[in-house]
Amino acid sequence: MVKRYQMFIGGQWRDGVEGKTFKSYNPATGEVNGIIAEADEKDVDLAVKAARRAFEWGTWAEMTPSDRGRLLYRAAQKMWEKADFLAKIESMDNGLPINETKWIALPATIDVLEFYAGLANKVQGETLASPGIRLNYTLREPLGVIGAIVPWNFPLMLTMWKLAPALAAGNTIVIKPAEQTPISVLELAKIFQEVGIPDGVINVVPGFGSTAGQALASHPDIDKIAFTGSTSTGRIIMQSASKHLKPLSLELGGKSPNIVFADANLEDAVNGSMFGIYFAQGQVCAAGSRLFIQESIYDKFMDLFVRRAQSIRIGNPLETTTQMGPQISEEQLQRIEKYVATGLEEGARLLTGGKRFTDAGSGYFYTPTIFENVTNEMTIAREEIFGPVVSVIRFKDEEDALAKANDSIYGLAAGVWTNDLKRAHRMVRQLKAGTVYVNTYSMLDSACPFGGTKQSGFGRELGIQAMDMYTQIKHVWLDLNKEGF
Ligand code: NAD
Repeated sequence: MVKRYQMFIGGQWRDGVEGKTFKSYNPATGEVNGIIAEADEKDVDLAVKAARRAFEWGTWAEMTPSDRGRLLYRAAQKMWEKADFLAKIESMDNGLPINETKWIALPATIDVLEFYAGLANKVQGETLASPGIRLNYTLREPLGVIGAIVPWNFPLMLTMWKLAPALAAGNTIVIKPAEQTPISVLELAKIFQEVGIPDGVINVVPGFGSTAGQALASHPDIDKIAFTGSTSTGRIIMQSASKHLKPLSLELGGKSPNIVFADANLEDAVNGSMFGIYFAQGQVCAAGSRLFIQESIYDKFMDLFVRRAQSIRIGNPLETTTQMGPQISEEQLQRIEKYVATGLEEGARLLTGGKRFTDAGSGYFYTPTIFENVTNEMTIAREEIFGPVVSVIRFKDEEDALAKANDSIYGLAAGVWTNDLKRAHRMVRQLKAGTVYVNTYSMLDSACPFGGTKQSGFGRELGIQAMDMYTQIKHVWLDLNKEGF
């Protein structure tokens, strides 16, 4: 019996106004994971109204920051208790190997909640320098109702990056999960309900981008849009948000350079570069999808790298031995196939992979793929593929590497592998990216801000810095010079 899921609005589990539903599939088997109530414009409007009510009146508006923090902690505790269940439904919906969900993505998600639970009572204003006859100070206030639109690659984690700081700061939220992966976010809402989150503080409206997403991004009563997704959708969201001049943060795509110098520890660089491109089947915004190798170590590096890629165990994400699961959908598989064909047409050389993997059943599996003889001008070096495909480019020296690495419309992340400390710092300063990894790749920490430059977006999630995106400053001018004060 396939499970049915309702949407969550104003503390109620309910069907959509129009009574529509859609299915969420397991990308490893094609089986239906759940039948989901589908939100459209009317449901989004109800959710925004519920979030507005909860923000302006009632328990949430009156709750002390410490109590808010405590509530978030309780939800985090509940998430730890349900970790096995959450990891399983997440892997069944997005295809991430269970080991990666259970030991990497889910703990990182709960850590984010704990981090912001601790920050809830540390939001502070300032007293400003002004003559003694008056008092100038600032209040740091929540924005109001946040609209969060999230993608399918890390549904729980990318929801939490928005939800936790938003709630810690005292906002309320309407979340539109990706249509491919709504289940874990609905289960998350249930956890918050169980620990006593007041009605309307969290609302979840599962549905499609062009309907529910569009309605949320263009809603007049949203105070901010927080979006993670592709750069092309980011452009549309920016237009929608401009209708009512809503502030927004955009975490978008990337084509991140990962640069290996001859003086790097070869074994570490190979391992890190593997993780950089093949973690989560390459469906990572910060994936090191342009791999730059210095000429003098090229053959040695590639020999190891290709052998490692060929040894990756592809299979059912729920098996603990699986290292790589399926891509999210047939559509995504076809997109990868198109890019691989273009790579070959434009003269890149396929070293391994480049085809579907059919030994693991009927799911959307693809083989780890490596192209060499890639130039920075080729499509596979310029556009985000969002799959397990790496474009390898040789470089001569530091200057050459930098020029090629920065020659991209994107600027999300970059990696540098070197044992030369001065070179590492020089590269860090000159690489145009929101995050630079040195002798590591794709690491995350709740305390460390994450976000893009150029067409990878703007705004920083995580860290204390994210609180700036969910609060606004009110300046107070108090004249102490008046009679009777
Ligand atoms: P997507 O842009 O297609 O969809 C993301 C979300 O936007 C989904 O919820 C979707 O329903 C919604 N959406 C689609 N069209 C919309 C519209 N017109 N109005 C409002 N909402 C709309 O992206 P995707 O395919 O789900 O995810 C992959 C992309 O996300 C990649 O480009 C990847 O780089 C990016 N990403 C970025 C980060 C980051 O932090 N920078 C993290 C993860 C993924």
